[in-house]
Amino acid sequence: MSDAVRMSDGGETIGAGCTICGTPAAELIDFSARTRVRCPTCGSLERHRIMHGLWEDELRVTFGDRPIRALLCSPSQCERSFLFADLQTYDLDIGVDRYADLFVDVCDAVGLRDASFDLIVANGILAHVYDLDATLDEWRRILRPGGMLLVTTPVVDGAETVTHDLAERTRLWGTERYERLRIGTYRLSGSVDLHPAFEERFALRIVEGTDPATGAHERIYVLTRPPRTAPAPAAGEPATGPTEGYAFQRCRVAGRTFAFCLDGPPQAHDLPVTDLLGDEVATLHVDAFDPTGDYAAAPPEAPWETGMAWPLRARLPTQSRMRPGVYLVDGRIPFVVRHPGSARVAVVLPSLAGTAFNDAGGRRLSASADAPGADVLSFLRPLAPERLLEDAGGVMRWLAEADPFPGDTTYVLDADLHEPETLEGVELLVVVGRSTYWTRAMREHVDAHVAAGGRLLILGAEVMHWQVRLHGWRQQLIRHAAQDPEPDPLLHTRMWHDDELAYPVAPRTGGEYWYGGRRAVDQGIGFGGMRVVADAASPILRAAELRPGAVVALDASAWDGVPVRRFDRGRPEVDLGEEAPWRHEVLGFNRVLPAVPAESAGAPATSCWMVLRRTPDSGTVVHGGTLAWSQQQAVPGEDGDAARGATLAMMRLLLADEWPFAAADDRP
Ligand SMILES: [Zn+2]
Repeated sequence: MSDAVRMSDGGETIGAGCTICGTPAAELIDFSARTRVRCPTCGSLERHRIMHGLWEDELRVTFGDRPIRALLCSPSQCERSFLFADLQTYDLDIGVDRYADLFVDVCDAVGLRDASFDLIVANGILAHVYDLDATLDEWRRILRPGGMLLVTTPVVDGAETVTHDLAERTRLWGTERYERLRIGTYRLSGSVDLHPAFEERFALRIVEGTDPATGAHERIYVLTRPPRTAPAPAAGEPATGPTEGYAFQRCRVAGRTFAFCLDGPPQAHDLPVTDLLGDEVATLHVDAFDPTGDYAAAPPEAPWETGMAWPLRARLPTQSRMRPGVYLVDGRIPFVVRHPGSARVAVVLPSLAGTAFNDAGGRRLSASADAPGADVLSFLRPLAPERLLEDAGGVMRWLAEADPFPGDTTYVLDADLHEPETLEGVELLVVVGRSTYWTRAMREHVDAHVAAGGRLLILGAEVMHWQVRLHGWRQQLIRHAAQDPEPDPLLHTRMWHDDELAYPVAPRTGGEYWYGGRRAVDQGIGFGGMRVVADAASPILRAAELRPGAVVALDASAWDGVPVRRFDRGRPEVDLGEEAPWRHEVLGFNRVLPAVPAESAGAPATSCWMVLRRTPDSGTVVHGGTLAWSQQQAVPGEDGDAARGATLAMMRLLLADEWPFAAADDRP
């Protein structure tokens, strides 16, 4: 049975003020209908001061001299910055608190390694998790044997837990968060079932504490994961050689902390952090780790799906003035820093295609001769920088160096477009590289951006080729190779060209891989670049200083195209069907080997460099038609100057929202 203890007041005088930061009692302020309970300096409430006393006077000692690795679940600022500030802490939240280090669902903490933490703190969490048993199981799993969980939560003694109805569940945070993130108030716990649920998994001790500042009483559950009785699971040899790893959140706003899961030498060491130009901007300190002792964990069974579950061994706090862009830890672990406020230009990197073709953990999306394919792929695996930059490295390095819109550019991953907030304040969205995989929400958010006057520039190919789904909390990409279990056919993971998805790409973006294809110049077809065919009056041609008839050297393996009805005096006449935009013009074209040979009856396909507007009021969309706009190998030397010049001209014209067509502005 539980060992209930009433703490003495420890000789402290009630009314002594804040025991955490020393603020006098007279300065405490009112909070939530309680008088003079909150410390204005550290933000502490009664439960924080009680926990502080228990922790400092008693519990801390039980950990000895070892560094304490702590997980704070949805912590308050007081816990984060004062109560446990001297521990190696990682904050967890479900994604609402953008400051958290780890966006994780505590009911389903896949991706967090077994036996990761010495201490877990969950103040006021248990009423709000949708599955209490699963949460307790996960906490036990990620706590090392002998590790400790501190819980405060409202409990009615001698009663059974009451499950709330929908109205009460959504009262605090509303319906939208409940439906999207399952955040709500699910229950009022009763000791009759809560205490046994604790005792099934932990050694339970109940501490009835008294707040020295106010005299208020509050209960803290001190739950200890029983020490190991069986030998530790075989964790394999301690890793040697270079440190490999991944950022738990690959893209974050400047000023936030990146948490890294790392595999490498067990001793503490430092790694350089560089930008794309190779300049060292920071040092990442990697903590020591003992993979054979208390933290030993069996490797996950399907690491490609659940993530590698490597230990959290480093945190990198960033400055809010850190320049947005792609950074590399030790030249091998990429992460992306976003603008801390709103930037007018957002560059979108193709992380989903990188994830799809990442074979870390043993599988990738498509089966190969060496390995079967997988339908679900985790982001929580090491991603080689080439996977992110292979087809976007040229434009990314050029942007890092030239910085044409200083202070006004941000970088995001394509998966970030799944959240509508990513596009807030953005005027020009630039999609680079082979951005093949898009969720329906990503497409809808970008279409809404354009419909509201936002501009879109596509400097890649195979863009929006497949619909995928994301499992956000688990950080997974989903694309079924065969039977898709999703009941809604509009969400099936198929090629976007498929009529079943009812969402064609070409009329919205001006290009689609279905109508494009592969390089053909080595077979004597095409121009090895974009042949300029727009009228000389085209504002884009003029800004780019290009003349009709010129060929911009943009040779690439992949090209996006549009259906072409016929050629008229050497210019393709585009047929975008029923959903044709209000206005479009072809700026240039190339002939390619068709992506879909059966549809082409053997004839080459046409890739186009297009500008369009869906409606008179919508924003301008430009599709460059070829991957070469983004690639390193396509922008060298003199010919590269033309492509870079055109890129800069397009970005400027679109950002200034100038009229983009050769034909006169005849908007109603
Ligand atoms: Zn205080």
